[in-house]
Amino acid sequence: MKPKTKIQKEVARLSATLHPISATQEQWAMRHCVEHIGYRTKKGNITCSDCGHQWHSKSELCDSIVGCTCPKCGAELKVQDTRKRTNKETQYFSVITVCKGYQVIRVSQVRCESKKGEPMKFFCSEVVQRWISPNGIVTDMALLRGFNFYYCDTWAWESQMEVRPHNSLYDDVVAWGNVYPKMKIVPQLKRNGFKGDFHGISPIRLFKSLLSDPRIETLMKSGEIEDMRYFISNPRNADELWTSYLIAKRHHYSINNLSMWCDYLRMLQTLGQDLRNPKNICPEDFIEAHDKANRKIEAKRERERAAERRRWEIENREREQQRLLQEKKNEEDFINLKSKFFGLIITDEEISVKVLESIDEYYNEGKVQNICVFGSGYYKKADTLILSARIGDEIIETVEVDLRTLKVVQCHGKHNQDTEYHDRIINLVNSNADKIRKRMTA
Ligand SMILES: [Zn+2]
Repeated sequence: MKPKTKIQKEVARLSATLHPISATQEQWAMRHCVEHIGYRTKKGNITCSDCGHQWHSKSELCDSIVGCTCPKCGAELKVQDTRKRTNKETQYFSVITVCKGYQVIRVSQVRCESKKGEPMKFFCSEVVQRWISPNGIVTDMALLRGFNFYYCDTWAWESQMEVRPHNSLYDDVVAWGNVYPKMKIVPQLKRNGFKGDFHGISPIRLFKSLLSDPRIETLMKSGEIEDMRYFISNPRNADELWTSYLIAKRHHYSINNLSMWCDYLRMLQTLGQDLRNPKNICPEDFIEAHDKANRKIEAKRERERAAERRRWEIENREREQQRLLQEKKNEEDFINLKSKFFGLIITDEEISVKVLESIDEYYNEGKVQNICVFGSGYYKKADTLILSARIGDEIIETVEVDLRTLKVVQCHGKHNQDTEYHDRIINLVNSNADKIRKRMTA
């Protein structure tokens, strides 16, 4: 990436002036960052992974914990009873230095390959530089990443050390790596309380926080290391609960477990309580107050749930009432439209054709015959009369008469199929149209 901003241009220029990682630094990495193995056979022969020298050792004392020293090259070896003949290892280490006011973390990858009986092969390449400005702004220089996304030891070795957009991997390689013990530190970091101990925090995070966040500086200087570590890894709580934290400190309140205390404050917030009131945030019995707040929140949720349930029941009841009202209205409308035809029966002694006299009868007719006389709302149609042609109690076909022409327009049996009585029913109804007409004018 071509450097664009002023700071990127400056970092790129300064980076080119850095000396390569020195031979002393590489030797330190070789000694401290990778494992040195003494391969031991059952007979007690030990082979040094570093120089390949082999010797016989009777010593019972030498094991993977105590280890032993190679008589030829002097390497301190971890003894392994193994038939393994090769070992490969990849590690990272950081050299911490300064350059023209920048705090620089230079990260190198070390790789070793040892084969039993041969001298160890050792490689070291610088892969990332983190340049931290005096106000905590980080600019990254790095080699290009290889294509294998999941393995962080894949770098494109032929690429150049260039300014690159931030990649979380750069944080990881600093966090995992060893730090070369001779460090150079910018005066701002010393002034802000850094004395050489990272307190288990990754160098990049600690430096960045110390330079850009006065709260972290305050905690470092007052020796509140645990709290500092917590706020560095929980920046949201640092942003939102810092004022409360200061109030508690001012009241000499001792917070035993900062993480739990922050949780407690979040609960108070949910309960709508004032996070600046020492009475709230500095309870005498913390555990009791914490549990009480927790129970209150649970009770609050239960109350909300119950209210929701009640609302739902009321709405349901209202909907049910609406539905009943609508049904009643439909029935009244139906009676207004069709009651003048009630009781009308057209019969030829065997088949009798009767008017359907309620919405329920439409429903039953549709259900028994598997037709849509109810579903399509025929009971609402003003110009239509629906009759049921039956023999005894059995429905044969359902008949629709158009009240404007007094002619049968539809006549069907079960599943809309015609029966053997089909034509007879149509003729019977059509020839008795007069009976329908009389009811209409009555
Ligand atoms: Zn050796």
